[in-house]
Amino acid sequence: MTKVSFDNTEVAFKHKSDAELKQAKWLFSLFNHNWIVKFGPGLTAFGLKIGLPIKPLVKKTIFHQFCGGETIQECSDSGDQLYQSGIGSILDYSVEGVEDEATFQHNLEEIKRTIIAAKVDVKFPFAVFKCTGIGRFDILEKASKGQLSAEDQSKFERLKGRLSELCQLAVDNKVRLLIDAEETWIQNIIDEIVFELMRKHNTTKVWIYNTLQMYRTDRLTYLEKTIATAKAEGFQLGYKLVRGAYMEKERERAEEMGYRSPIQPDKESTDRDFDAALTMCFENRDVVATCLGTHNEASSQLLSELMAKEGVALDDERFWFAQLYGMSDNISFNLANAGYNVAKYLPYGPVKAVLPYLGRRAQENSSVAGQVGREMSLIVKELERRSRI
Ligand SMILES: Cc1cc2nc3c(=O)[nH]c(=O)nc-3n(C[C@H](O)[C@H](O)[C@H](O)COP(=O)(O)OP(=O)(O)OC[C@H]3O[C@@H](n4cnc5c(N)ncnc54)[C@H](O)[C@@H]3O)c2cc1C
Repeated sequence: MTKVSFDNTEVAFKHKSDAELKQAKWLFSLFNHNWIVKFGPGLTAFGLKIGLPIKPLVKKTIFHQFCGGETIQECSDSGDQLYQSGIGSILDYSVEGVEDEATFQHNLEEIKRTIIAAKVDVKFPFAVFKCTGIGRFDILEKASKGQLSAEDQSKFERLKGRLSELCQLAVDNKVRLLIDAEETWIQNIIDEIVFELMRKHNTTKVWIYNTLQMYRTDRLTYLEKTIATAKAEGFQLGYKLVRGAYMEKERERAEEMGYRSPIQPDKESTDRDFDAALTMCFENRDVVATCLGTHNEASSQLLSELMAKEGVALDDERFWFAQLYGMSDNISFNLANAGYNVAKYLPYGPVKAVLPYLGRRAQENSSVAGQVGREMSLIVKELERRSRI
């Protein structure tokens, strides 16, 4: 069995000019400075607010690395570039922070445009959204606890209505739709609603995908239970598998409020459950379609090995690998080059509104998180390779 190599930087960075690679190297080196990572997003937001002319600089640097543009139209070039290498894009309208009905309605309309874009253009194989983009966090929290007042109930119904509307639009237009996973204290109700929507819509094919965060100790049991129900009732499940993005916040809240942390005790346990969930989804591929959202090479390798062992076609539509734009191109481009289904989240939105997203990418690639070496060493390796030819 031939393994996919993730070390081929020529394939990984074919789409990047020397100048672009040098700029990426400079950017990732900035993430080594903790003060930049810590204060950069806040200072930038403040600078933009008071009208400093820094938008072009932000747009050319960190925004350019991790986002496709400010609008769907502006994402076209990045999307085309990825698609030339056989990689799809998942338009991710990444605005955060404003919680009023007008914003939720605006976000809903924008997410609908991403679904329509996916309908008409093969380079967008999925659409995606976050429930907190279309409804209030506190309403999801109260609904998860079953504590809604009459007034809350009507807000909750509106949120549910928007969620159903997006799913219906996706199904009507034959577009696969991913629903992101968020904090545990709002996730119960999201799981409940999305499970019902999968039961309703994933009858002959998987259109609706929920997300499972395998840093949670309870997710394998949940996965097993939902597979049993889907088999018994004759519908299908879609799962995006991720490790999980809110570890610190989850642990801090559990500690503060004195309940047992829902998060695995260590990285090894998260890795073990992630790979176990992947194996379970694979073995139950008669009812589960999987989108593997990870930058972890071992887990990506595991799926490619499972597929090879059972003779599953590389482009079987039940299996997708997904990474974030601007990260782990060595995984995305080498997998696509080998013939697998690969897509990258392509975040977009007004610069000011995507700053929280950019802040998280800076944090994730900082020396504090210990991951800056991963992207940087690949870029350096490719620059050295090019300098030798
Ligand atoms: C396409 C895509 C979609 C995504 N969608 C979502 C989403 O909907 N919801 C969401 O929450 N996240 C999402 N993420 C982010 C994801 O959850 C991870 O934070 C990120 O991808 C890093 O994990 P990894 O598998 O890539 O790699 P790795 O670097 O191997 O793993 C890092 C992850 O391991 C876990 N971890 C690290 N240290 C410990 C520890 N001490 N104890 C326990 N666990 C630990 C954490 O989850 C950490 O993020 C998405 C990521 C991608 C690529």
